[in-house]
Amino acid sequence: MSELIFLGTGAAVPDKEHHNTHLVFRNRSGAVLVDCGSSPTIRLEEAGIGLDEVSDIILTHFHPDHVGSLPLLLMNMWLVGRQNTLRIYGLHHCLERVESVMSFYQWENWPEFFPVAFHRLPELQRGLILELGDLKVYASTVRHVIPTIGLRFEVNNGERVLAYSCDSEPCPEVVHLAEGAEILIHEATGEEVGHSSARQAGEIAAQSGVQALYLVHYPTIGVTKRELLDGAGQSFSGKVVVAEDFDRLII
Ligand SMILES: [Zn+2]
Repeated sequence: MSELIFLGTGAAVPDKEHHNTHLVFRNRSGAVLVDCGSSPTIRLEEAGIGLDEVSDIILTHFHPDHVGSLPLLLMNMWLVGRQNTLRIYGLHHCLERVESVMSFYQWENWPEFFPVAFHRLPELQRGLILELGDLKVYASTVRHVIPTIGLRFEVNNGERVLAYSCDSEPCPEVVHLAEGAEILIHEATGEEVGHSSARQAGEIAAQSGVQALYLVHYPTIGVTKRELLDGAGQSFSGKVVVAEDFDRLII
C-alpha cells in the first residue's frame, strides 16, 4: 500500500491548523518528503512516520516556506542516530543555496553525520527523478518567481497517477504533468505573479482531464473554504477538495 499525507496545506503564513504546504509519500520501500517548511520533524511524528523512514527529500524551490526547516530536520535526524544515506533532490538554484546554508551551520564539523546525496536536477520536462519501490516521480520546471519544479507520482507502472503543481502560475507544464492523472494537487495562493487562484487551479484541472482537484497552499486568512470551493467550481466540474493538514490519500 502507498499513501500520500498532507503534512501542511497553508500558504507562506501558517496557522495552528495549516502549516506551510509540505507532504509525504510513503510506501513499503521508504518515504519521500516533499518540502520542509514549518516543523517536519513534529508533523512526521504526528503522521506516524519515523525520521529513519524518510529515504528521499524533494525540494521544489528555495523559499523559506518550502526549505526553511531543512537544517533543523537534518540536525534532528543526526541527533536520533540516523546512519542511512538521505537523498535530496532539487534544481541547482535550490541545492547550491541549501549547501551554503548548511555550511554556515558548519555541518562538516557535526561528528559522524550521516551521508547526504544531493541530486541536482537539470531544467526538465516530466523527467524521471526518482524511483522508490513501485513509485516513480517525474518533475517539470513550472512557473514561479524563482526556479521551481512541479511533480508527478506514478505508482505501479502508471496504474495510479497524481500530480502536484507546487508553487506556480497556471501553465502548460502543470497540465502536462497531470495528463492522465486521477488527482491534481494544485496551489491556490491567489491570482498573482508566480501563483494561482482556486479558479485558475480549476482551469488547469479541467485542461488536464483529472477526476479530482485538491487545493493546497491557500491563504490562512482572508479566504474561506467555501470561496475556494466555489472558485475552483467555476472552472472545473470534477470533485474539488480543500485539503487539510493530515488528510491522507490511499494509493
Ligand atoms: Zn510557497
